[in-house]
Formats: sequence, C-alpha cells, structure tokens
Amino acid sequence: MSFEPIADLEKRVLIPTYDRLPILAVGGEGCYLHDDRGKQYLDFLGGLAVNALGYAHPEILAVLRDQSETLLHVSNLIYHKYQAPLAERLTQLAGLDRAFFANSGTEAIEAAMKLARAYSRKLQPAEPGERVEFLALENSFHGRTFGALAATWPEKYRKPFEPLPPGVRFVRANDIGHLRESFTPRVAAVVVEVIQGEGGVVEIDEAFLKAAEGLCRAQRSLLICDEIQCGLGRAGRFFAFSKFGLKPDIVVVAKPLAAGLPLAAVLAREDVAQAFSPGMHGTTFGGGPLQCRLALKVLEILARPGFLEHVRDVGAYFRAQLEELRAELPIIQRVRGDGLMLAAELSVPGKAVVRQALEAGFLINCTQEKVLRFLPPLILERQHVDQLIAALRPILATLSPAAAGQGVRT
Ligand SMILES: *Cc1c(COP(=O)(O)O)cnc(C)c1O
Repeated sequence: MSFEPIADLEKRVLIPTYDRLPILAVGGEGCYLHDDRGKQYLDFLGGLAVNALGYAHPEILAVLRDQSETLLHVSNLIYHKYQAPLAERLTQLAGLDRAFFANSGTEAIEAAMKLARAYSRKLQPAEPGERVEFLALENSFHGRTFGALAATWPEKYRKPFEPLPPGVRFVRANDIGHLRESFTPRVAAVVVEVIQGEGGVVEIDEAFLKAAEGLCRAQRSLLICDEIQCGLGRAGRFFAFSKFGLKPDIVVVAKPLAAGLPLAAVLAREDVAQAFSPGMHGTTFGGGPLQCRLALKVLEILARPGFLEHVRDVGAYFRAQLEELRAELPIIQRVRGDGLMLAAELSVPGKAVVRQALEAGFLINCTQEKVLRFLPPLILERQHVDQLIAALRPILATLSPAAAGQGVRT
C-alpha cells in the first residue's frame, strides 16, 4: 500500500494519538530515511533520539540476523547470556552497581520511582509513609504512564487523566531557593533531566544540579537522573550528568539503548538496589536476549576511540552554524543544547518550518510549539549539517514575526 491508502486506513482504525508527518517510511541507510516514492530524507529526528547509529548499521544488522536465528525471548524466569554482561557494562559506565531492565522509558521511570519509595521505606521503617515524595522540575518530561506522568510538567499531558498518583511536587528549574524551600524531610527522591528534551532542549545549571545533589546527600534522599534522551552519547558523553561530575543514585536510560528495539534500564547504587527483593517488581519482556545483545553492540560502538569526540565535534560545529544563522535571522531567538541534542527557539510557531523542511528533504522536529529540535544520528557528518543549514536559511528567511500564529508568510 502507498501513502494515501495507509493514511486513510490509519484515520479510521487508529486511536487518534499522533499527528504524523505526511511520509510513508519504507527503509533507510546511514543518516537517510527513504519513503515509498524513493525520496530520501536527511534525518535530524533520529526516530526521536532512538536511531543513534542511523539506519541499517551493518554491525547492528549482523547481530540482529545472528540472534534472531538463535533466541528471541525466554522471560525473566530463565538465564540468558546477554543480560548480565549488559548490566555490568552499563553500571561500570554510570559508576553504579546494579541494573533492572524494562522495555520503555516511562516503564523504567516507574521502576525507579518504586525503587526510591521502597528504599526510603527501608531507611525509615518506624515511620512508614513519611518519605514518599518526589520533586520533579518544571518543564520536565518523564513519560506517559501514571507515575511518570505525575512527574511530567505540562498540564496538557496530565490534566485529562487526573487523579494521578499523589506525592510529586514541581520545582522551578535553576531556582536554587525554590529547590531548598521544597526540599522537606518527606522527599524520597529528586528526578531530573540534565538536559530537558521535550521541554525544548533546556540545560539545567551546574549550580542547581550540585545543590540538588548536596540536598539529597544530606537527607539520604535519592538523585534520579533521567538520561533517556540526553544520555548514551547524545550530549557527547556517555551520560549528560558526567559533564558536572554528578553522582546520581539512580540513572535511567532507554531510547537509543538497543538500536531501535525497545529496551530501557534502571541503574542503581548497591544499597538502593537492595530495596527490591525477588517478586517486588518485574516485567515479561524486559531485558530479552535480542535487545540486550544489540545494546552490548551499541555500547561497544559508542566506546570506540573517537566516537564521542566525533559527536562533540560535529555537535559544536552544528551549534556554531545555528548561531551564525541566528545572527542573520532574528526570527531565531536562541540556540541551545550540547553534543547532537540541539535546538533553535523561534519567535513564531515551528510547525510550518518542519513541513517545509520535509518538502526539502530534511526531517526535523518541533517541540514546545516554537522550538526546532535536532536529534540526528550520532554518525552525522559536518557536510550533513551544511546541507540542513542551507535548506533552513531560505525557509526561515520567508518567515516574519508578523506571521506569528499562522506560521508562514508566502
Ligand atoms: C522519551 C522520554 C521518556 C519516555 O520514554 P518512552 O520510551 O516514550 O516511554 C522519559 N523521559 C525522557 C527524558 C524522554 O525523553
């Protein structure tokens, strides 16, 4: 089936949760996604930060082929060869001790929140129910299931589904005073994205992060870093938190972990991890052999000499090009981000820019209405950046602040 009949069918049979771009993806290679008409799109969306190694990476395909002929699933009632080595590798990288595997980001956030509750209950068995609260940041995104949703800031995501689980309070990002005020002895954990992704690629200040870490240490509360989007090489380091030398108690990773297959991990310090005992938490699919073996390959590739340097180098080049564009075009208000997690905030809605970029053969994303967000494969090259900038220049030049609300002036 081609685009039209597929789009029509979807309109009738899917629960309407997505507003899709009008292309039918059928394949891809490297940094390019191919549609059914043979058009190639240079991809700065990366399957929402999942396709860190691009499309059809030969080493990923080799693992996929081999493991798919061997063993796909065994359940967590049985050992397989790849979960323990993956746990060992991830915990080494994060400076933590133990791992739990889930299937998606939100599910891993749920597990992290449950672990934090179980841990603080263990710390204070005499006063059960005392240390049960979570602090999350304004502008945060942690997922769509009830617990993670309760820690997610935008009202539009939360309101329609209330009541949500109680116990989450929001702190203004980068407001240390507000953080201190909010940090009562009831706080079990603070959940933070070091670079807020859906929130528009907003970097949290080092001073604020250090203050949160200090308060957590002082009260034996837990610092949970949600590295689902900013982690695993995206910001030019294995973890975004390591830029500031933070030592979180729990780290959550997901999106790019298994090269496009669903896999997430919760990484925890030894004493925290021991708050779970067999039967307290679990999942049917989490940490299967195919996903774990793919993740081992992903981590091996990220760790190769020069790989993360490449991300930092191309990321810095990309950011500089966006800054140059901003100097030319006042419609770009701000440029933000680190590594290959970048954004250009516009003074007008960005939806029309996304559509025009698509026409021109570039996949980009818009978040927070006005923020163009770039999450390309980490194998992106400088020449790809040049191509995007050359395409964006005329698109943005035709936009005028007077067109705010409608998007584009023709
Ligand atoms: C995408 C994302 C999530 C949710 O992950 P899902 O796999 O969609 O459930 C949570 N936190 C952050 C920071 C994310 O970017």
